[in-house]
Amino acid sequence: MTSLTNADEAGFFGNHGGRFLPPQLEAPIAEVAAAWAEARRDPDFQAEYEALLADYVGRPSPLFLAENLTRHLGGARIYLKREDLNHTGAHKINHCLGEGLLARRMGKRRLIAETGAGQHGVALATAAALLGLECEIHMGSIDIAKQRPNVVRMELLGAKVIPVESGGRCLKDAVDSAFSVFASDHHDTFFAIGSVVGPDPYPSMIRDFQAIIGREARAQLLAKEGRLPDVLVASVGGGSNALGLFTAFLEDDSVRIFGVEPAGKDLDVVGEHAATMTMGTPGTLHGMRTLVLQDDDGETWPVHSIASGLDYPAVGPQHAFLKEVGRAEYVSVSDAETLEAFQLLCRTEGIIPALESSHALAHAARIAPTMGADEIIVVNLSGRGDKDIDYVAEKLGR
Ligand SMILES: *Cc1c(COP(=O)(O)O)cnc(C)c1O
Repeated sequence: MTSLTNADEAGFFGNHGGRFLPPQLEAPIAEVAAAWAEARRDPDFQAEYEALLADYVGRPSPLFLAENLTRHLGGARIYLKREDLNHTGAHKINHCLGEGLLARRMGKRRLIAETGAGQHGVALATAAALLGLECEIHMGSIDIAKQRPNVVRMELLGAKVIPVESGGRCLKDAVDSAFSVFASDHHDTFFAIGSVVGPDPYPSMIRDFQAIIGREARAQLLAKEGRLPDVLVASVGGGSNALGLFTAFLEDDSVRIFGVEPAGKDLDVVGEHAATMTMGTPGTLHGMRTLVLQDDDGETWPVHSIASGLDYPAVGPQHAFLKEVGRAEYVSVSDAETLEAFQLLCRTEGIIPALESSHALAHAARIAPTMGADEIIVVNLSGRGDKDIDYVAEKLGR
């Protein structure tokens, strides 16, 4: 049965999710599902995972009261969950270590994955180096040209970067390419998806690996304030950092939950945004039924966001479900608002946020002044912005 937190036996969250695969991928994905069903109940596996989170990632990440930002905006007190302080600078390392450990437990020698901007690729190459696994990252050739530093990082970490020349030569094509290699060589290989997307069990498994964020935030806020937050805010690309924060609070009706997606340059123009929850329609992509940005023939739209980690034409199925049942609200923020929020956090708190995380900050900045000083917002600061400074400097005309 579907609850707010768990999919049903077939991997559906209401009408979304499931496992929609070509025949040659059915057995390999079923093998992952069976291995995960065992591992998640195995205390030794969980203990090894948690030890890595503590000693390698540096968890728990702090929950920081942003007093200067709060004073500047006037209204609700804003806490930042500092995933930017994790090793590799974002939340993605949480699920990459989980997937790497599961691969090793299954006796696989190699991790394979897609990457868009390279953030998932770098985090996975990191986990592979640590765990003694080979790593092959598929990346669109356009993205390779745009994200040179991340390509160098992956190669330094020992990963092999495979340029993808098909289709639009971006993220979606990289996913297709990695899937097809996995289909032909799954005996040795584990497919390590980079968000709460793809066929069951990935949306549930990646969420479980990220749910540490919300468990920590809940305990930290209870210790500091003696109560739950009024509002949670997180950016949504595929939706992993958002579900990471939200999961521990889904049953707390008093907590209002916002997912923030990119309105880009123009929400009314196809190709100028990546606002799947706002503009998407039900469809099937990458092995799941979910909301998709697509035309009438099911061709996915090109997408744009100032934050390359958010430009995906679909979204995790649990988000589509949480929207449908009204448990979470999804809003969009433009590139321009994102740049404002990015600069605001730099100046008020001395923290350079990722452009992805700046989407969440922008929405918090919108609503904080409408709330009382006794109310609390927790924003998931999913990553640090060092990777974005050249791009931001160019946008600001520096
Ligand atoms: C990849 C990324 C995101 C978006 O991915 P989700 O799966 O939606 O969390 C957000 N923030 C940062 C810093 C990222 O690297």
